[in-house]
Amino acid sequence: MVKTAEGGRIAINGVSRVFEDRTDGDQAVIALSKVDLDIREGEFVSLIGPSGCGKSTLLRLIAGIDKPTGGQLKLDGEPIDDAHPSRGLVFQDPTLFPWKTIWKNVATGLEAQGVLKERKGEVDKFIELVGLKGFEKAYPHQLSGGMAQRAALARALVNHPKVLLLDEPLGALDAFTRMNLQDELLRIWRERGTTMVFVTHDIDEAVYLSDRVVIMTPRPARIKETIRIDLPRPRVRYSPSFFEYRSRILESLQLVPEIGQPEYIV
Ligand code: ADP
Ligand code: MG
Repeated sequence: MVKTAEGGRIAINGVSRVFEDRTDGDQAVIALSKVDLDIREGEFVSLIGPSGCGKSTLLRLIAGIDKPTGGQLKLDGEPIDDAHPSRGLVFQDPTLFPWKTIWKNVATGLEAQGVLKERKGEVDKFIELVGLKGFEKAYPHQLSGGMAQRAALARALVNHPKVLLLDEPLGALDAFTRMNLQDELLRIWRERGTTMVFVTHDIDEAVYLSDRVVIMTPRPARIKETIRIDLPRPRVRYSPSFFEYRSRILESLQLVPEIGQPEYIV
């Protein structure tokens, strides 16, 4: 692996996030409660858990665009206290600027930092890396969902993030595009050595991609279990060992109905 991004170790210690500012008169929402998680430099970690359990909240805290109400988050030993290009965020919705070409969209971060002139070549390089060479002059509405998501990836990668935070980035794509982009993501990860924190609802996706799968409880989210996926890559989606991991995760999420109690708990 050619490691081009130095660092990328995340330490999450006793992190809680309580939302007090409810306008509907409801009581406060405890989104996260005393979460502890250490992520190695260059590790690929997936977060999986029921909807509303605090996965996006945790990503936002790592990104530095939200602050914990308790505990502390660190990147390479330094407290995370604001947003920084070293922590790139990619959402389910690619959120490209519709009035900008793909090239200009990808160049956004470098332009904002005032370094576009000297680093122009990198925009081309990352467009090529995500497989969009030839589409530089296209506008977002001219791209398929998968291509737009590739552009969003390139836009985050051009800042050389130490950490890439991905919030269900492939959730809106059809199954074939999704599997194809999973492979692209692994290739980029191997090439760049970026730490990946990947939120997904898709258990197969988590097993296919991750070094570790972190299973979260329903709200208030705690870490229920961390499962190391000890399978060589490329992984075979239909192998017995793949299914074993899949079953373990299903069981941990309590999505396996018990006899006499056929309803899913989550
Ligand atoms: P997930 O990504 O796991 O589906 P979220 O992290 O988005 O869950 O949300 C966790 C909980 O925190 C939810 O109950 C949600 O309604 C609540 N929440 C998230 N953001 C806010 C906010 N800005 N204000 C109030 N409540 C919020
Ligand atoms: Mg979410």
